[in-house]
Amino acid sequence: MELSLLNPQQREAACHGEGPLLILAGAGSGKTRVITCRIAHLSAARGVAPENILAVTFTNKAAREMRERVEEMLGKKRCKGMVIATFHSLCVRILREDIEALDYKKNFSIYSTADQLRLIKDLIQQVDIGGRKFDAERVLYAISDAKNRLVPPEKFAVKYHDDYEYMAAAVYPRYQKALKAFNAVDFDDLIMLVARLLQEHPAVLEKYRARFRYILVDEYQDTNAAQYLLLKLLAGGHHNLCVVGDDDQSIYGWRGADLGNILEFERDFPGARVVKLEQNYRSTGNILAAANAVIKNNGKRREKALWTADGAGPRVDYLLCEDEEDEARAVMERIHGERFREELNYSDFAILYRTNVQSRAFEEQLRYENIPYVLIGGQQFFDRKEVKDLIAYLKVLVNHRDEVNLLRILNYPKRGIGETTADRLIRHSAQTQKPLWEVLKSASELDDLGDKAQEAIAAFVALMERYRRLFNRHGMMVETLRELIAEVRLEQEIYRTVDDPVKARRRVENMEEVANALASYLEREESPSLPGFLEKVSLLDEERPGRDSKEKKLQRDAVVLMSIHSSKGLEFPHVFLVGMEEEFLPHKKTLTETFDLDEERRLCYVGITRARRRLVLTGARRRKKYGEMQLRVPSRFLAEIPAELLNASRGEEPPQLPEEEKDQRASKAFANIMSILGD
Ligand code: ATP
Ligand code: MG
Repeated sequence: MELSLLNPQQREAACHGEGPLLILAGAGSGKTRVITCRIAHLSAARGVAPENILAVTFTNKAAREMRERVEEMLGKKRCKGMVIATFHSLCVRILREDIEALDYKKNFSIYSTADQLRLIKDLIQQVDIGGRKFDAERVLYAISDAKNRLVPPEKFAVKYHDDYEYMAAAVYPRYQKALKAFNAVDFDDLIMLVARLLQEHPAVLEKYRARFRYILVDEYQDTNAAQYLLLKLLAGGHHNLCVVGDDDQSIYGWRGADLGNILEFERDFPGARVVKLEQNYRSTGNILAAANAVIKNNGKRREKALWTADGAGPRVDYLLCEDEEDEARAVMERIHGERFREELNYSDFAILYRTNVQSRAFEEQLRYENIPYVLIGGQQFFDRKEVKDLIAYLKVLVNHRDEVNLLRILNYPKRGIGETTADRLIRHSAQTQKPLWEVLKSASELDDLGDKAQEAIAAFVALMERYRRLFNRHGMMVETLRELIAEVRLEQEIYRTVDDPVKARRRVENMEEVANALASYLEREESPSLPGFLEKVSLLDEERPGRDSKEKKLQRDAVVLMSIHSSKGLEFPHVFLVGMEEEFLPHKKTLTETFDLDEERRLCYVGITRARRRLVLTGARRRKKYGEMQLRVPSRFLAEIPAELLNASRGEEPPQLPEEEKDQRASKAFANIMSILGD
């Protein structure tokens, strides 16, 4: 066993027996390593059966890595049956087994953000007869926030009395009703419905309590109220709940993560053993000192004293650049130089930013200099229109009650079911309370529809029923998908509607990529199915599946570009934390009015602590915005790093502060930076 690879505190945590356990530790202190060793210990030394172990984390990558580490220690065979999953995939698993208790069908669809927005837009129109423009995303955000706090539609109280709140209050119940009618769930439902299932059905709760006898949770600081309730319910009988987290790395407040969950664990689980880990094994002394110096400015936190046995290492670099292009060039220069000097791989470098839009200048420069890179996140493959169109067909084939997607494909590509016909069908469905699919099947009873429309509808129904059968042929799924693309003439539709031939080609290739994704899903999965494939696609939190998964991308020798959010839990020898400016980090929030500076500081802390040996902070004096040059103010967090840790490049000419940006704090940060630059 690898317990010898742990320090005494880590070992204490890994070998803990029964009862609640809280491991509270800073970044890079080996929390994730403790979890994997604890799983191995439970299995090897305590004889716990694999199916009694449940480990939960936040991203697919983290879950996959955890499984791999455990398999290395125990061997694949002894891990079979262990559930090592994200919250969402755990919940899908439970719902596929037991959702009927909540009066849904097992073939439920999982709605993507795009599906949700389509539905919300529709509902806004139904509610708002005045025709005012509402931003569907903002309404969705309010609803999602309520769900994460476990507030059902009937308890949604209007607090701030703005138009959006009233709109959200009106849409929320309709939205839930529609989802139910379409036999669909959204991401927030996944967690909320499982919590409800366990609360309302004691027999189901008992079943899962008996199954998951040891529960381990990584990145516990990011759980929201719904996830917390879920854990509390599951661990309710045996209290064998081990949670691992760092209050300083809580960065999902905007998604309802509740720091209280970690700060109050001991109160909620009496008798909990608390283990603190303070030795950092990841970063050099200077990097760690910079991280500590920043995070100590947050008020509500548990004091931690992270230290490292490593040397101080080089100072943290700060590059103040002219503009975004200069910033990108400066980063490339460093990569070229250090890679050569220290014989590094491209994959030893990561460029981290606060918002995905910041990646553009870096991508361009990387391409220009022929440096291989991978972009993680950003425009998700499955968010592209042509991909969504194809997936919509598949979603309807699996669940014909899915009306959002049924309407998406009803007349796409054009097949003679125009808007008037569609309206007539929808109206009939509403009047008779019959699902739209049933209305389509019996459309011949609607005398006011013309012959052409009747024919088109009948052909569509026949097409879908035929493909539902075809997809059931054993081992023929990829062929069937290609047949479907050809028969529906999706490619021709793209060539017909997209003028730019290069763009059109790329879109067609993207559809082919879906077939590839399906093929590689079929290879990996023991008992593959079309619903299973759609589920994988829905739960994807990374770029594309299959051939070009995030995993494989990271293995390729390429510079990694990603947001700070998606870098959580990862580490890289060299990290560039770019755009260290006010409005980026801290970010000028647009969605919510509540500006959470502490959370921005935690993000900065997460970014800094990804670095193992070298950290470079960069910022620009000015940036183009709406075609105009704007002066930028260095991030206030820079000023929190003691000057002796920083190695700042000298700017030739001090940036001028525009009048309106002379906010007190910013100018203090600015003055500090200037003094660093001047020393
Ligand atoms: P984060 O807060 O970023 O999620 P973490 O606390 O989960 O970090 P790990 O990722 O588990 O930390 O470990 C950080 C690094 O330290 C890894 O490279 C890991 O292999 C190494 N490490 C952890 N514990 C030890 C140890 N006892 N001896 C040597 N290396 C260790
Ligand atoms: Mg970790």
